[in-house]
Amino acid sequence: MCGIVGAIAQREVSEILIEGLKKLEYRGYDSAGVAVVDSEGKLTRVRRLGKVKELADAVDEMHTMGGTGIAHTRWATHGEPSEANAHPHVSANISIVHNGIIENHEPLRALLQERGYIFNSQTDTEVIAHLVEWELRSSASLREAVQKTVLQLEGAYGMVALDSHDPSRLVVARSGSPLVIGHGIGENFLASDQLALLNVTRRFTYLEEGDVAEITRREVAIFDKTGNAIEREMVESNVEQDAGSKGKYRHFMQKEIFEQPSALISALEGRINDDSIVVESIGNGAKEILAKVQHVQIIACGTSYNSGMAARYWFESLAGVSCDVEIASEFRYRDFVVRPNSLLLTLSQSGETADTLAALRLAKEKGYMSAMSICNVSGSSLVRESDLAFMTRAGTEIGVASTKAFTTQLAAMLILVTAIGKEQGTIKPEKEAEIVKSLHSLPAQIEKALEFDKKIEALAADFADKHHTLFLGRGEYYPIAMEAALKVKEISYIHAEAYAAGELKHGPLALVDADMPVVVVAPNNDLLEKLKSNVEEVRARGGLLYVFADENSGFEPCDGMKIISLPHVDPIIAPIFHTVPMQLLSYHIALIKGTDVDQPRNLAKAVTVE
Ligand code: GLU
Repeated sequence: MCGIVGAIAQREVSEILIEGLKKLEYRGYDSAGVAVVDSEGKLTRVRRLGKVKELADAVDEMHTMGGTGIAHTRWATHGEPSEANAHPHVSANISIVHNGIIENHEPLRALLQERGYIFNSQTDTEVIAHLVEWELRSSASLREAVQKTVLQLEGAYGMVALDSHDPSRLVVARSGSPLVIGHGIGENFLASDQLALLNVTRRFTYLEEGDVAEITRREVAIFDKTGNAIEREMVESNVEQDAGSKGKYRHFMQKEIFEQPSALISALEGRINDDSIVVESIGNGAKEILAKVQHVQIIACGTSYNSGMAARYWFESLAGVSCDVEIASEFRYRDFVVRPNSLLLTLSQSGETADTLAALRLAKEKGYMSAMSICNVSGSSLVRESDLAFMTRAGTEIGVASTKAFTTQLAAMLILVTAIGKEQGTIKPEKEAEIVKSLHSLPAQIEKALEFDKKIEALAADFADKHHTLFLGRGEYYPIAMEAALKVKEISYIHAEAYAAGELKHGPLALVDADMPVVVVAPNNDLLEKLKSNVEEVRARGGLLYVFADENSGFEPCDGMKIISLPHVDPIIAPIFHTVPMQLLSYHIALIKGTDVDQPRNLAKAVTVE
């Protein structure tokens, strides 16, 4: 969600800033801006509504702007998307970019207006600019002014301050919204995500909660929330430089769907042997914790929530451990009861999902035995703040609609479930070997699912002119149907609902007519006959059915029912396998509809605001 880039160098930095913003475009935004100061203290600020390209064109027309600058893509929370509300916001010599929300912006605005400040935007961010300007009047340095400012701010933010009277430094502050410093040689950078800086450096330092840092061309000084100077570890990034490019694919989402076999290979590597799970690979101390777990509480949002819902079936049926799954934004605001020996399991692609992070922090105080996260971004807040972190290793995911993060989360949870069952003796060695064998076959099976691309593309046209769709599944395939419906909503803007097929007659059947395609996820399992009855209920009411069926399930095409016959795969991994045709379907519907597949309207990638 929204992006920050900053640079301080001897060379012209505007291009570095713009290139950085382009790498963050995938996160979703509505406007962009940049402010650069030259060595004489001349500030140039350019802001544009719309895409970074517009901003880049405007910046191109200027010859030089300077060596110290900050840039931003905004995802509006306070005030409409407009040029006036785009960042950087300026107060006299101070320019500010900010990610997040300042919750007490109203009283601060009133206070600053009393002090004579004139507001030029409707944003919460502008209060930061005026506050820093105010505090600087009585401070020895910009850093001191920022430190005094952050004490007055409530909410979540990552921010950068630039003083055009002193272009030799930038000051950044982090509280609830990630910031990373990129170390160059004789130049330094910062961003809300290291992806923005991979063209200029591979060496990074992540700021911790409450940190304030002063960055000059040659030095980076970091202070913790008590104001004491502190060393933070510098890490070498192993993210591929071309993570941000689409290669031969038309969209990142398409690339990421097709990357799933290799993403799953990395997710499994070192975690399974020929016939057993490597429990130690789950992390230091995992063995002892997993042996004791009696209950698993999963907390997540969006796609991660759906993967948690699917994995719940495994926790209970394979490992015999009870499991609840809850949406983070609900969980964090209710009084919950912690059961004895409960493991709190948070799921997030980015590891910066604000609600999930808040739920984790809250839960840590409430006596969970241990907190574990399954996450795709190492170094993210969720990973750093959990007792155990199990990385999905899917590689950078750029498409806003998550695909490979979902399937690798499922693979990671299947490993976790098996490890718990193994440690507790509920999964015997033969069953463990069976699960591991199934996991080994997963990448190749996903390849097979991808071969259905063309067939599914041909179906997509049937959906493009529809306003509503229904996705049905039963058992662990119900969450797969939920995820399919979410994908369709996200990228094709068609209203899609998922129902547990047995629930149909309790209401949604009333909606069924020839204008509402009904998609069925139909594996060959114990519930097949039940599912068939549900399908008949739809057919009898003139519904249009699209059944994605296991080849052995016995579904036959007939009037009003198209069958996509999929190869039979081992039931253990089948939910992961059946996800892929659904991803392809949503992708192709969106293509026909001509939507912005990678950056669907109103959405952002890492949801770092509440
Ligand atoms: N709350 C700020 C605004 O609406 C920042 C939004 C963002 O994180 O991009 O301008």
